[in-house]
Amino acid sequence: MEKAQSQDAALASSDTASSLKISWLRICERLKNEVGDVEYRMWIQRITLGPLDEDEITLYLPERFLRDWVRGQYGQRLQTLWREESHTVQHVELRVDKKAQRSSNAEREASSSTPKTTPFDPDIQTLVKEDIAALDRETTTTLPSSVNEVRNDLAVPLDRRFTFDNFVVGKPNEFAYACAGRVADHPASPGFNPLFLYGGVGLGKTHLMHAIGLKLMSRGNISVAYMSAEKFMYRFIASMQSKSQMEFKEQLRSVDVLMIDDLQFLIGKNSTQEEFFHTFNALVDAGRQIIVSADKSPSDLSGLEDRLRTRLGCGMVADIHATTFELRISILEAKAKASGTPVPPKVLEYLAHKITTNVRELEGALNRLIAHADLVGRPVTLESTQDVLKDMLKAHERRVTIDEIQRKVAEHFNIRLTDMSSARRARAVARPRQIAMYLAKQLTSRSLPEIGRKFGNRDHTTVMHAVSRVSELMEQDPGLAESVELLRHMLEG
Ligand code: ADP
Ligand code: MG
Repeated sequence: MEKAQSQDAALASSDTASSLKISWLRICERLKNEVGDVEYRMWIQRITLGPLDEDEITLYLPERFLRDWVRGQYGQRLQTLWREESHTVQHVELRVDKKAQRSSNAEREASSSTPKTTPFDPDIQTLVKEDIAALDRETTTTLPSSVNEVRNDLAVPLDRRFTFDNFVVGKPNEFAYACAGRVADHPASPGFNPLFLYGGVGLGKTHLMHAIGLKLMSRGNISVAYMSAEKFMYRFIASMQSKSQMEFKEQLRSVDVLMIDDLQFLIGKNSTQEEFFHTFNALVDAGRQIIVSADKSPSDLSGLEDRLRTRLGCGMVADIHATTFELRISILEAKAKASGTPVPPKVLEYLAHKITTNVRELEGALNRLIAHADLVGRPVTLESTQDVLKDMLKAHERRVTIDEIQRKVAEHFNIRLTDMSSARRARAVARPRQIAMYLAKQLTSRSLPEIGRKFGNRDHTTVMHAVSRVSELMEQDPGLAESVELLRHMLEG
């Protein structure tokens, strides 16, 4: 045992720079076999080996978006391979280092045991550099979650649950639903090409697109390609890097129906937009169907090129409106029924009242309730709902805005909204203003200075004073306390 340990220690100390390098080359070799040439050149080859710090090895990538991608796609695998290769390394840290690319290329070129790299073509680099930079500036990019998605050819698998039958129709989405149905039955018919679906997050755009795809494919013989605009961009860049642009173009132009989800992602990515524009024209000219979704209407998608916006608006533009209470209830009823777990109507109403922004969250809340009930073996009740969803509902409550608070309070006390930020000190306006400040502190996560700024650039000490004054008054004056509670209730509801 002791011997084994000392052997380990010896091995550990022999994990010097050169042995790390050898491990790394072996890992690269293994990854190359696993992911294939193209992927390897695109992502893995751009990693540079960094230093070892205790049991953590650092790997560098030259761009943030590459780092995020590599982390999402290969992070786990890299860690496993390192643990297998080295006695010392337990963790892998991926970092961004702008200089990393140059040194990595130089090093790889010098090394004979790894294949020669195909360096990034300088022209292509200029072309897509801006798109990558634009992506890099964005704080939240969701990267595809599996390697297969990237390696697959065009068609990203459609979610079998997202059918027309599973889509609950109500006033806010009936037009979009009808358009989607029409396109699924008669693709590329005049007036419906492109079909442009737009609306807020979680209102069913992706669901409808998948439904169209599933229906078309169920009739066979129709090739359907569905992908997010983000995926479109990655594929485009990847095709540039691997010099397979022609293949990419041909693949895209050979489908009968092309669906691009969340087109707003292309804002600011001009080369990708341009590529999409050409694809779009080629397909429409050839009588193929295009379906696009976005969070805004074509005319509101400022940041997209004008000619693209114009073409996008040429077919059928259908918006999905925010859900109504009735629609939320219908959706919940349908989903509860499908789950087979009884959920009392009171609970459904409660949820439909509380979660108003998007269907995904509504669904998530219901699923959580059902899972909880199954797990503890007790039926879903209003009490259990409030308990199980405490954190979720709290997050919703915190989303009250100061503007809303000011509006509601002004309405309630019958004063002008502008008085919330005016300098008037008459009690009739000063008191409601203080109450609004108090509620802003209680119901939002804004800081005192932020609240002050919203109330006519007042100092944070003024807000502080208002908060303590209102608390005091609420103790002394039940009438006022009731008003404040009522307002709070309305704002939270
Ligand atoms: P979007 O793409 O507009 O952000 P999704 O299509 O991903 O939204 O919808 C989010 C979730 O809500 C999905 O699980 C979807 O099935 C569900 N959903 C949205 N609208 C409806 C609806 N009208 N009926 C049934 N499920 C819906
Ligand atoms: Mg979507």
